[in-house]
Amino acid sequence: TGTPLAGRVAVVTGASSGIGAATAERLAALGAKVAVAARRKDNLGDLVARITVAGGTALAVPLDVTDRDAVTAAATQVTDQLGRADLVVNNAGVQLISPIEDLKVDDWQRQIDLNITGVMNVLAAFVPHLVAAADAGGPADLITTSSIAATRILEKFSVYSGTKAYLSHFSRLARVELGRKMVRVSAIEPGMVDTELPDHVTDPDASTLMADLLRDIECLSPADVAETVAFIAAAPRHVNLSEITILPTAQP
Ligand code: NDP
Repeated sequence: TGTPLAGRVAVVTGASSGIGAATAERLAALGAKVAVAARRKDNLGDLVARITVAGGTALAVPLDVTDRDAVTAAATQVTDQLGRADLVVNNAGVQLISPIEDLKVDDWQRQIDLNITGVMNVLAAFVPHLVAAADAGGPADLITTSSIAATRILEKFSVYSGTKAYLSHFSRLARVELGRKMVRVSAIEPGMVDTELPDHVTDPDASTLMADLLRDIECLSPADVAETVAFIAAAPRHVNLSEITILPTAQP
């Protein structure tokens, strides 16, 4: 069948652009009903329209994932309007690279708030749903977008890398507890993907570094990462692709 995710209810954070938007479209094309979360309402509206025109089902859930109450309310809304979530893609994140000695403490905090606290808020709101879905005998997935920065030594990436190292290692540990309940836990570690991610960097030298890297090699597209998410979710229930690295072929 062309709809391996029929009957699934997905939640994708950071769905207003880049990897999240492409993932939402791909999951919907494969038959999942998809709740799309991020702050930019207009982008979410456009995405829902695209998915609907293509014959899919989507729900816009405008929110800031660092707001725990908003995330909790969203979980209720998703259950009411789409059904119990069984596929959570914890993807919202920001990369604000800079030299440590510049002390861009606001940028440090933004990365920690979004990449760590935001991810934990989403996890807290949806883990009970995932466990219930697995309990009912169906597949259940908790997929987090980490990064190759979790393990590589990349200058000026220190705080960003730290947040992604947290996500990759947290996923390994969460997997031990949730896997026993038949909830699959996966971390995806992409290399360079052509998205809006570098646009938020406030350090001029670091921006140039990113722009040069992006120009020199053929990057991954958001759709490439979306396909990886779909592959993880469509695997048989007893198969957990726990950590996947996806790199542009020419990226060292
Ligand atoms: P984008 O900047 O295109 O996407 C980031 C998404 O996060 C946007 O949808 C943004 O939407 C959302 N977001 C930001 N702040 C918040 C918030 N407070 N609450 C809810 N949503 C928020 O970049 P990518 O698609 O590249 O990034 C997606 C993930 O992929 C990130 O975790 C990133 O670290 C990771 N990644 C990216 C790589 C790359 O090369 N691009 C490589 C490895 C990992 P909005 O502003 O509307 O809220």
